[in-house]
Amino acid sequence: MDRPAVIPKTAHDLRLAPNLVNYDATCRDYSWAEARQAMDGLPGGALNIAHEAVDRHASGPLRDRTALRFVARDAAALDISFAELARLTSRFADALSRLGVGKGDRLFILAGRIPELYVAVLGSLKCGVVVTPLFSAFGPEPIATRVNLGEGKVLVTTDTLYRRKVKAWRERMPSLRHVLLVSDEGSPTSEPGTLDLASLMAEASDQFAAVPTAPDDMSLLHFTSGTTGTPKGAIHVHEAVVTHHATGRFALDLHDGDRYWCTADPGWVTGTSYGIIAPLLHGVTSLVDREEFDAQRWYTLLEQERISVWYTAPTAIRMLMKAGAELVRGHSFPALRFIASVGEPLNPEAVWWGKDVLGLPIHDNWWQTETGGIMIANTPAFDIRPGSMGRPLPGIEAAIVEHLEAEGEAPRVRVIETAGVDGELALRAGWPSMFRGYLNNEARYRKCFAGQWYLTGDLARRDEDGYYWFVGRADDVIKSAGHLIGPFEVESVLMEHPAVAEAGVIGKPDPIMGEMVKAFVSLKGAYSADETLRLDIMAHARKRLGAAVAPKEIAFLATLPRTRSGKIMRRLLKARELGLPEGDTSTLEGSGQ
Ligand code: ATP
Ligand code: MG
Repeated sequence: MDRPAVIPKTAHDLRLAPNLVNYDATCRDYSWAEARQAMDGLPGGALNIAHEAVDRHASGPLRDRTALRFVARDAAALDISFAELARLTSRFADALSRLGVGKGDRLFILAGRIPELYVAVLGSLKCGVVVTPLFSAFGPEPIATRVNLGEGKVLVTTDTLYRRKVKAWRERMPSLRHVLLVSDEGSPTSEPGTLDLASLMAEASDQFAAVPTAPDDMSLLHFTSGTTGTPKGAIHVHEAVVTHHATGRFALDLHDGDRYWCTADPGWVTGTSYGIIAPLLHGVTSLVDREEFDAQRWYTLLEQERISVWYTAPTAIRMLMKAGAELVRGHSFPALRFIASVGEPLNPEAVWWGKDVLGLPIHDNWWQTETGGIMIANTPAFDIRPGSMGRPLPGIEAAIVEHLEAEGEAPRVRVIETAGVDGELALRAGWPSMFRGYLNNEARYRKCFAGQWYLTGDLARRDEDGYYWFVGRADDVIKSAGHLIGPFEVESVLMEHPAVAEAGVIGKPDPIMGEMVKAFVSLKGAYSADETLRLDIMAHARKRLGAAVAPKEIAFLATLPRTRSGKIMRRLLKARELGLPEGDTSTLEGSGQ
């Protein structure tokens, strides 16, 4: 279906004046030093994320407001106020101190989205301990690899996960001094060599002053999604909190009184930066659903929890689209005001789906584990161009660059000033949440910078009005018969076909064309895979893309391989197609359970 190229901003439901109104003027006048003024800060220029997110509210007018609301299928909802969260995180911090764990030590958390995970993240930050939440579905090996790489001193996990995934591997994690267990049965755990978290917390003080960490002190260690290869450990610092606050304001449009739901798991950077920290900074109530994706449940939560700002991901949106519009009937979302998405390119079809089904378009935004926070976004301040990631946020300078021949190790680039040209997306270094290194991989870190430019590894183009359009990851771009083809463009067109639920496109080596475009698609429930449908999808793609860019082959798959953070793993599609080794699959959804 042909749709307009623009969704005007006046079509947004703006019951509240948005935080960002005049994009150009705000960008022009913006300074991070000024943004820093929104922080409470600690004496001596210190800055601590937990103080900004929790303690400052716990001693102010928001003290009794719900900070975190946990819901689960078989349990009553649990509300934790800002004041209570301050006490709990103090207990956690004090318990760590009593164990001799303190500033700069590393703590890992392996748990589902239980309250203890949130308390452990914020409690660690409060006492200057560097924290890493891991996906609870990781198998023993990826857990051990990460703990060893990060030299984890403490592991917080549950009884069950400990027995299933850690116990047998404990000896292979020599840096681990303490294992703190959350008991699943409600009675203290009795696993040898472990400590019972609840007992430690009961003995600890509920008053603990946040450690005056310097802005440059390490705060979180996050592993990348492993979409393109072995996950890298990105080092973040307390100063990142300034970006989290600013982007919560501009890209998520958080307002006092919002009820906010970020669907990402804290095992991925979105789930901490925006599933824990940013909403707390703004004093808004966050919903945490402990269950896995379920279309019906999600519609019910959006409605019954009166969610006003919703931050989700393309994979979830595609699953909702796949589940069909009938599921939405009978639901209404009068409280919903703003929807945003991150993690993968958001196909124009998905942006429109939001508008058709939920009454609001979806605001795509772009960032990475390395950037620590949202960098490019569709905001309420300008029209949405479906398929575009939006424009750089205030304080962020982006550019499209091309590589020049390097003289030594360091990359050299040139900024492409002309609009409409594909190149690597680069950001001028210096925003507060920028990563400060890859763990144990200084060489790799250095390769990400060309002078003042941080090189993202993503290809994009900028249009004449400054909107950025994702082309593909540098590794995924297909070179076919002299054309450079971005998989996203092809996937978006395939997604327009009524039968297609998901699409992943790769370049398959071809003796004549160099690479040939091959597509893998999964179908919506009502369709079955047969030759007629294949030809129909092929014809649709050829009509929209032309013969040079349209896939030459289309294969049907029940589902596409995805990372746990929801990204299609094209490298796996390719390896399987070519019969090559699959490489690191530690983050593959469905592995290691
Ligand atoms: P790895 O670096 O280990 O291969 P990863 O890059 O997938 O994994 P993340 O940091 O979780 O790890 O993901 C960031 C990447 O996700 C971006 O570099 C980009 O390729 C993709 N991405 C995120 N948001 C968007 C978006 N809105 N549009 C297109 N791509 C996006
Ligand atoms: Mg990456």
